[in-house]
Parts: sequence; structure tokens; C-alpha cells
Amino acid sequence: MTAPSFEALPLAAPLHRVLRELNYTTPSPIQAQAIPLLLEGRDLLGCAQTGTGKTASFALPILHALHSNLAKPKPKTCRTLVLAPTRELAMQVGKSFSTYGKYVPFRQTLIYGGVGQVPQVQAMRQGVDVLVACPGRLLDLIDQGHVDLSHVEFFVLDEVDRMLDMGFLRDVKRIVSLLPAKRQSLFFSATLAPNIVELANNILRDPAHVSITPETTTAEKIDQQVCFVSKESKRPLLEELLRGQANASAQKLTIVFSRTKHGANKLAKSLCAAGFPSDAIHGNKSQAQREKALDRFKKGLTPILVATDVAARGVDVKEVGLVVNFDLPNEPEAYVHRIGRTARAGAEGRAVSFCSEEELEYLRDIEKIIRMSIPRWDNHNWHEEALADRHLRGARSSGAGPRPSGGRPPQRGGQRRGQGGNRQRSR
Ligand code: AMP
Repeated sequence: MTAPSFEALPLAAPLHRVLRELNYTTPSPIQAQAIPLLLEGRDLLGCAQTGTGKTASFALPILHALHSNLAKPKPKTCRTLVLAPTRELAMQVGKSFSTYGKYVPFRQTLIYGGVGQVPQVQAMRQGVDVLVACPGRLLDLIDQGHVDLSHVEFFVLDEVDRMLDMGFLRDVKRIVSLLPAKRQSLFFSATLAPNIVELANNILRDPAHVSITPETTTAEKIDQQVCFVSKESKRPLLEELLRGQANASAQKLTIVFSRTKHGANKLAKSLCAAGFPSDAIHGNKSQAQREKALDRFKKGLTPILVATDVAARGVDVKEVGLVVNFDLPNEPEAYVHRIGRTARAGAEGRAVSFCSEEELEYLRDIEKIIRMSIPRWDNHNWHEEALADRHLRGARSSGAGPRPSGGRPPQRGGQRRGQGGNRQRSR
């Protein structure tokens, strides 16, 4: 089922107006599938990554319902509760509600940790139509009697896989236990592992299922490569890669992933010293520092952002052309999330992963869950053939079966690879 245009969807006039202003003409596949079901009042289990237009797929029908029934929220209550794993994602969702709800008279607020609670408590005093919250701080405020969930009409759990990775399962269950039985619930996750499906079954009632990307496969348009390199040579390799990227297209922004906060700081510093304007974002930075870094990044003032997994969650910047996994994630699902920072909203993107001896096992796990072998890029000065061989042998014996893809030159502007079928997709 594909809606030909937004005009065909029975959304309230103020929403059509804003969609016209935003130049959104065609609903993305998840929007085309989810919006009609949600307008009917169905619960929804959505398997979709960020970058698919998932936020509008739930924000538009909720705003439609709020607009159709402009009941005043009771003090300390919210009519809609969206739970998000990180403050960046919460802010992103809040911003989307503000954008799409520009012509709908509704009140919303955000609740997340790392900042003072007083403004959040004040905002909740009169009650809100939409509350976007991270689980930890929300429970703090509930326990202090500042938030009451007994009037929630719409409940959205966003990026559930990430929420569970971050250890929020107990918090989520507690929050769900405080919701009224009569509600419409929406559940979104990039992957549907058995523990996630079990949680969904406990929360949703006769849900409609919508799946946009096949489970744990990586986004279509991302051109992925892996470099086998020693730990010590990762920095010069990164510099070579960034130089190539700068020559290819000066406009493109780059996110470099580091496993640790300390590593992110050190790397950003060394990149700056080497003449690559960069900044680091991670959990030890204050909210104001993170926002400032993101703002400078979006504007292209510091076109390289070195980030840890948690900090990069919810970063929605369309112009990210390159994601570098300076360190491979030890949780394979994080790879999918990381590379999903590029190729947003239909754009193309490139993801290059550095793999040192210590990380061979991580690479094997990643290739297993994405069910493809990541093409090798070994035409650079720091290539470690012995490592590449070990990976190939290990993968063969484990049955993952990557094919050697041979040395390819770094990708230059216009010469996009991955269009001629060098990807091995399983479905
Ligand atoms: P999301 O997956 O919700 O993070 O959305 C990814 C990006 O796509 C956001 O920047 C949205 O503004 C944009 N977007 C969402 N839906 C549409 C649409 N139907 N047409 C054009 N852009 C869209």
C-alpha cells in the first residue's frame, strides 16, 4: 500500500498546511503504511531505523488526534507520552512535534537528565499534550509527584532496541505499569530480537505490524567499506581518508565513532592539530556543550564530529556523507545505528570501518547480523594483509563467508560504488 501523496491521507488541515510548507509531497514507506493504521486507532509495532521518516509517521497521526479533540490536559498529566533512550533523540522528537504541529495549538515539554529539573517540573504543572521523555528522569519526577501518567492517551516507545541496550528495560516496564489500560500504543525498534518482541507483546494490543527495513540489514544506500589496519596506524589512515573526502565534496559532514569518551576527546584534539576542524560529543559533555557542538557541526563550522554511540543517537543531520568507525562497536547492532547516521532522507552516504587485530571478532559479529560481507578497501598506505587474511579464514570457518573484494581506490565524488551490485544482500 503506497499513498500517492500526503493529500490523499485524511489528516487535519493544519497538518496538510505544514506538510506543503515543508515540501513533503510523498509519504515515506513507513508513513504510507503507519499513518492510516494509526488514524484508525490501531496499536503499532514498527520495525524501522531512523532516517526512514519514522518520527512523522507517529507525530502526524497523534497531532491529528490532538487537534480533533482539543481537551485541556489536567495538571501534571500528559495526553501523549513518547519515551526515547537519549536526550538527543528526545530533543529531535520534540523538535519534530513542534515542526509538524506548527498550526496545532498544543503544549509539549521534554524531560531528560543532565539538566536542572525545575523548568521541567514547572512545565508539567499545568499538564501538557505531548511529553517526550527519557526513562530515568521521568521516573525521578514521577516518584517526586511531579508527573502523573494516568491520563496518557497515546504512548510511543521509540528506538526500543537502543533503550534495552542502555539497560532501560526495568524502567520501561515500570513506566508502562503506570499507564492507563485504555490507550493507543506505538512501538518502534530498528531490530526485532526475541526480547524486544516479548516486550512488545506485553505492551501492545492486537498491533498492526509495519516493517520498513528487513530486520538488521543495513540501509540501502550506504556504501560500506572495511579497512584492516593496526591500532597505531588508525590515525594516519583517518587523515588520509578525510583528505580524500574533502577533495571529493567539500560540503559533506563526517561523523567519526570512538568507543570511549577519552578516545573521542583525544582524537578530536589530534584531528584539530592536523588541520581538520573537529569537535567531540559524548556523555561527559554538558547539554549546552553538546548542543553547541551539534550546531557548529550542522552549520559546517566543524565538519567533523567525533562521537561515542550514546551521544550520536538522535543526531539527525542530512548532510552527513561519511561515517567512520574508528573503533568497531562491540555490540554489532550499534554498527547499524552508527552507519544509519549517513544516507538520511534518501541521500547517499559512505561508511568506512577500521578493523585492528583486537576487533576481528567484532567485525565477524557485525557481518553476521547484517548478513553481508563488508567490501574491503585495502588500497591505502596502512593496509594489513595478514589481518585481512585472518578475517577471511575466520569468516569462512564460521560460515559467514565474506568474499574478498580486492583493493579499491578510495571513493571520489561522483564515482559512487555500490550501484553496480557489489553488495551482497541476503534478501
Ligand atoms: P526520521 O526517520 O523521522 O528521523 O526522519 C528523517 C528525515 O527525513 C528528517 O529530517 C525528516 O525531516 C525527513 N522526512 C520525513 N518524512 C519526509 C517526507 N515524507 N518527505 C521528505 N522528507 C521527510
